[in-house]
Amino acid sequence: MFEKVLIANRGEIALRIQRACRELGIKTVAVHSEVDREAKYVKLADESVCIGPAPSAQSYLNVPAIISAAEVTDAEAIHPGYGFLAENADFAERVEKSGFVFIGPRAETIRLMGDKVSAKNAMKKAGVPTVPGYDAPLPDAHDEVLKIARGIGYPVIVKAAGGGGGRGMRVVHTEAALSNAVSTTRTEALAAFGNPTIYLERFFEHPRHVEIQVVADKHRNALWLGDRDCSMQRRHQKIIEEAPAPGLNARARTRVAERCAEACRKIGYEGAGTFEFLYEDGEFYFIEMNTRIQVEHPVTEMVTGLDIVQMQLRIAAGERLALKQRDIEVRGHAIECRINAEDPFRFTPSPGRITTFHMPGGPGVRVDSHAYVNYLIPPNYDSLIGKIIVYGDSRDQAIARMQVALSETVIEGIKTNLLLHHELMRDAAFRTGGTDIHYLEDKLSKQVREA
Ligand code: ADP
Repeated sequence: MFEKVLIANRGEIALRIQRACRELGIKTVAVHSEVDREAKYVKLADESVCIGPAPSAQSYLNVPAIISAAEVTDAEAIHPGYGFLAENADFAERVEKSGFVFIGPRAETIRLMGDKVSAKNAMKKAGVPTVPGYDAPLPDAHDEVLKIARGIGYPVIVKAAGGGGGRGMRVVHTEAALSNAVSTTRTEALAAFGNPTIYLERFFEHPRHVEIQVVADKHRNALWLGDRDCSMQRRHQKIIEEAPAPGLNARARTRVAERCAEACRKIGYEGAGTFEFLYEDGEFYFIEMNTRIQVEHPVTEMVTGLDIVQMQLRIAAGERLALKQRDIEVRGHAIECRINAEDPFRFTPSPGRITTFHMPGGPGVRVDSHAYVNYLIPPNYDSLIGKIIVYGDSRDQAIARMQVALSETVIEGIKTNLLLHHELMRDAAFRTGGTDIHYLEDKLSKQVREA
């Protein structure tokens, strides 16, 4: 096992990775920007290095500064967390070329999956069902694009091959709107992701977002760790996640999950990863793979009793997976609420100083947060300040626990989306389970109309 790991991230995930390392007796190096200097997890790390000013481009995305921090501290491996450089193949390559271990898949795998068109094609080849569409870069000639869209059937969705974070997508309902959508998405894709490649797929009207967590070692062993439902979204951003996904067709789920594990063996996948699917009428359609730890990994940890971050560390150190598929048991139900520092109605970010911070506790309650009283949330990064995760024997018990946990939670000084979570835990459709990815936006727009 490694003696020292550098954590190239910030916030709750930096703390989460630090905890996994410390339990394994691994020393940690925290890198931080100037505004994150006082963060508690930075103080808890064995060593810390300031890598630049607040803007991410000059700190958390500053590859030379991160590599030098690893050099001066003698770290052996770098954990990228999620976001920032986690899915940057060039970074993974630089890390390895500089003599460190990148805690994640090989650069070539990140590159393959980072391009959604090549990812879909790789998955099709591996027998994973994908969203029907045109799985090649869209041509420039508009009459050809029209023909392709007609072949798929409306509505269609125009997507950037290099897209991420819910950006770079546009739904098109009519032929008249296609040309404009294609050119705006192309321009946006180039500006935001440096890659103008776009593609087209069928737009599903009522799908759920269901994903399969996998882990694979460097010896071609791969396991799937159950599924998660992340359908509660706003602007393609997940707000609530749960495991297992309620009311799935279990046979179809197992079939698709086995194919995911098999795909990992085929492509020589190494580390933790997530296969994301749209699920409609009992069928799964692959949309993309995330080659990193995800925000919602704790719900899977709660129902499997496994520590996915520690698995990532062990895999990166070359260990074989200690478990077989038959050892993986999913028990009970877990729900995660993402706590964002934002206006609960307008969703604008609300950075600032936290003046009161009471977190919930009790049986089956887990809080992953780097925040505390007097913590100053900088305006420079995303608004996630923590996650409340609960476990119950059943989904009903998990919901009841989450309601109690939310009622115990008090955060003052900034605005948060806690109110929205309170409301969603009482929502009849959520309580039944199985709401689709458009449910929350529809609900919010109805509220605006009624107000
Ligand atoms: P990103 O990499 O930005 O997260 P994804 O491809 O994972 O992009 O899509 C994000 C979300 O967008 C999905 O969870 C889903 O809500 C919606 N979405 C993507 N593709 C489709 C589609 N073909 N039909 C309907 N919704 C889609």
